[in-house]
Amino acid sequence: MGAPQYMTKSSLFIYSEQETGYRLQQGHPFNQERLLPTIDLLRKLGAVPESIVHAPITASEDQLQAVHSSDYIEAVKALSQDNPEELWQIQADKYGFDMEDTPYFSGMHEVTSLLVGGSVLAVDKVMSGETEHAIHLGGGLHHALKNKAAGFCVYNDASVAIEYAKNRYGARILYIDTDVHHGDGVQWSFYSEPDVCTLSIHETGKYLFPGTGAVNERGEGTAFGTCINIPVEPYTEDASWLECFEDVLNKVAAQFKPDLIVSQHGCDAHAYDPLSHIHCSMDIYLAMPQLIHRIAHQHCAGRWVALGGGGYDFWRVVPRAWSLLWLEMSDNPIIDHLTCNRALELPSAWLTQWQAISPVELPTTWLDNTDWTPMPRRQEITTKNRQTKELALLYLT
Ligand SMILES: [Zn+2]
Ligand SMILES: [Zn+2]
Repeated sequence: MGAPQYMTKSSLFIYSEQETGYRLQQGHPFNQERLLPTIDLLRKLGAVPESIVHAPITASEDQLQAVHSSDYIEAVKALSQDNPEELWQIQADKYGFDMEDTPYFSGMHEVTSLLVGGSVLAVDKVMSGETEHAIHLGGGLHHALKNKAAGFCVYNDASVAIEYAKNRYGARILYIDTDVHHGDGVQWSFYSEPDVCTLSIHETGKYLFPGTGAVNERGEGTAFGTCINIPVEPYTEDASWLECFEDVLNKVAAQFKPDLIVSQHGCDAHAYDPLSHIHCSMDIYLAMPQLIHRIAHQHCAGRWVALGGGGYDFWRVVPRAWSLLWLEMSDNPIIDHLTCNRALELPSAWLTQWQAISPVELPTTWLDNTDWTPMPRRQEITTKNRQTKELALLYLT
C-alpha cells in the first residue's frame, strides 16, 4: 500500500501539527501553516514514514534561560495571556513586541517553547548518536534576542539548541544561516564564544532588515574569526550566490573543525519572495543542502541538525525548498533524478489537492524554469559579491 518508502534510519524528522499554532496574527507574512503543504508533499512521496517522525518536547525554563533573560521570559509569559494586564501591554514595545512586525499573541510562550524544544530534541537525537541527521522545520527563529522579540521571532530556538549542544555535550558547533536576512540573534548569542562559529549569507543589511551582518563583524576577544558574514548584493542570482557560499563554507569548515552542524534554512532568497531583493531560483535550494550534507560527513561524522526559518512565498517556494532539503538529508533518489532531469514533475496528487486552495498558480516541477531575463547588472553584482567573499575569507587559511 501507498508510495515506496526510501528512508534510511539515519535521519529523523521532528514535527507535530501543534507547531502551526505559532501564529502572530491573521494575514501576517510569517505563517507556519506552510508546514502543512510541505509535509503533505513529502508524505505523498512516501519520504516521511511515521516511524521516523518525533513530536517536539516543550523546552524547559532552564533551557530558555541559557539564552534569554528572566525578565524577558516573564514578559513573554504575561503577554501570552488571552487579555494581558495593562501593565504588561504598555511595556510590550520595550520587549520588542509591536502590532506590525512582531505582535504578541495568546499562547505564544507555550507554542514557542515547543518550537524551541523541537530544536533541542533534534540536537539530542544527533549528539547522542541515535541518528546522524535531524530536521526541524518548525524552528529557525534566528532574530530573537536575549531581551527582545524581533523579526517575527519570540524565542531563539537555534541559539538555545546550540547552547544546549555546547553545555550538555561539550560540542564545537558550526552554525550555517542561509536565510536572506542576517542571522543576527544567533550571531550575538555567540559573538564572544570561540566554540561556536556562525556563518551567515544574506542580502546586505544596507537595504534589508535587520541591518547588521557586515563583513567586518567577526566576533570578539578569543572568538575573533568565529563569526563570518557574506552580505550579498540585491538581485544576486544562483551562480554568484552559490560561488560565495561554497567557497566560504569549505574554508570555514576545514579551519573550524566542528563536532556538529546546525543549519538554518529560511528560503526567502528566492526571486518570488516578497520580502527581499535576491533573485535566486530553486536551484540553490537543491545545491545548498548538498554542500552542507557533504561537509557534515567530511568534518563531523555526519552530525547535522537542519532548521526552518523565513520563507514568505507560502505556495510556490516553501514546500519545494524544504522538501528538497529533507530529500537530500535522507538520501532520497529524487535528488539524483533531478540532476539528470531538470523538468522532473511534482506529484500530481499533491498539485491537485493544493491547487484547489492556492490563490496562485503552483509550479508543476521541482526546479524553476530559469530562462528568466538576466539581471541587467549581473556582471557588476557578481564582481562585487566576489570582493565581499574575499573579505569574508580574509582571516581564514
Ligand atoms: Zn548523510
Ligand atoms: Zn528571513
